[in-house]
Amino acid sequence: MNIHEYQAKQIFADYGLPIQNGIMIRKLEDARDAARKIGGDFWVIKAQIHAGGRGKGGGVKFAKTLDEVEKKVSEILGMNLVTHQTGPSGKLVKRVYVAGGVDIKKEYYLGMVLDRTSEMPVMMASTEGGMEIEKVASRTPEKIIKVEIDPLIGFQGFHARKLAFGMGLSKDQMRTFSKFASSLYRVYSDKDASLIEINPLVLTNNDEFIALDAKMNFDDNALFRHSDIQKMRDLDEEEPTEIEAKKYGLSYVKLDGNVGCMVNGAGLAMSTMDIIKHEGGDPANFLDVGGTASAETVAKGFEIILKDKNVKAIFVNIFGGIVRCDRIANGILEATKKIEVKIPLVVRLDGTNSKKAAKILQNAKTENIINADDLADGAKKVVSAATGVLK
Ligand code: GDP
Ligand code: MN
Repeated sequence: MNIHEYQAKQIFADYGLPIQNGIMIRKLEDARDAARKIGGDFWVIKAQIHAGGRGKGGGVKFAKTLDEVEKKVSEILGMNLVTHQTGPSGKLVKRVYVAGGVDIKKEYYLGMVLDRTSEMPVMMASTEGGMEIEKVASRTPEKIIKVEIDPLIGFQGFHARKLAFGMGLSKDQMRTFSKFASSLYRVYSDKDASLIEINPLVLTNNDEFIALDAKMNFDDNALFRHSDIQKMRDLDEEEPTEIEAKKYGLSYVKLDGNVGCMVNGAGLAMSTMDIIKHEGGDPANFLDVGGTASAETVAKGFEIILKDKNVKAIFVNIFGGIVRCDRIANGILEATKKIEVKIPLVVRLDGTNSKKAAKILQNAKTENIINADDLADGAKKVVSAATGVLK
């Protein structure tokens, strides 16, 4: 799960991590009041969406007077913000953060993420703050300093020192930074975060470190023990079909291709997507209907896949282990009675009672159902069906 910058900063503040003052508003009328309460010489008006790169896209603006605050808020609130992370369709801005402006001496990058190779959380720092860190990582990887932190030992002085040396900090700055970094580690582990990014972490003229930006992602499997974070969820930022799928225990991720996939088991779903690509096609989604797929989940799956108008053919690839293939075959027929599926449906059912299932589908004589012998055959058929419709 992702949260907004202003929410991540609330969490930071609870852990004593310095942030600038700020107030989130949803209405233009509240702009002046918010700025007045915050005070200071200037303000930063920031679009709150679950994507970075807002500055370049026109979602971060500066204001020196209350009139300017109002003007900049009116420009950002309700805008469709396109950044390199939103995709070309962009995101509608419904919340704006009015923050007190900070004078910057130097910008850094500081982040934490779980490194699956070392099986440890890693803290990363760089002097190249404020830039796209992905570009720094690919062009000048030596400019990113990393420390692996053994969770059994926790964050130690030597971790902080290694990062601080790499960042070229003075002795005094190092002391302030160490405190900041160790609190950041506490936030990361206490809240079961999977990623924290502070880009930029800034050094002010008084040699204080302030998190000027904040991005936090959480491990969904640990959310049950963080009701405070669950409350921060903003459904406006999530794909509506993904939310609906979750309600029915389906795990669905929308993609940009035109071959709909309905598969049971995440591993099989992944290999199905791979083989579709291998055959020259493009998956429209990832959909795992779960190990115990039933007629109802199959029907719901069709409904969700068909909401995506790009889908030109569907590949149903189910392995009958816990479920029996004949039940799924009947489920597919029942589902297609309930929901009109006008596009080709390539079905590969393997495992328990697969022969019985093939017979059920053949006897049904449904025009748009195409039987596949195996995974490769199914992928070939569905890709040609999808491209055939396009022609
Ligand atoms: P992002 O573009 O989505 O990453 O949004 P950021 O919060 O990182 O803001 C973009 C840029 O605006 C930062 O890299 C800073 O250079 C600048 N910026 C943001 N807040 C302030 C501020 O209070 N003072 C100054 N001087 N610059 C700021
Ligand atoms: Mn940023």
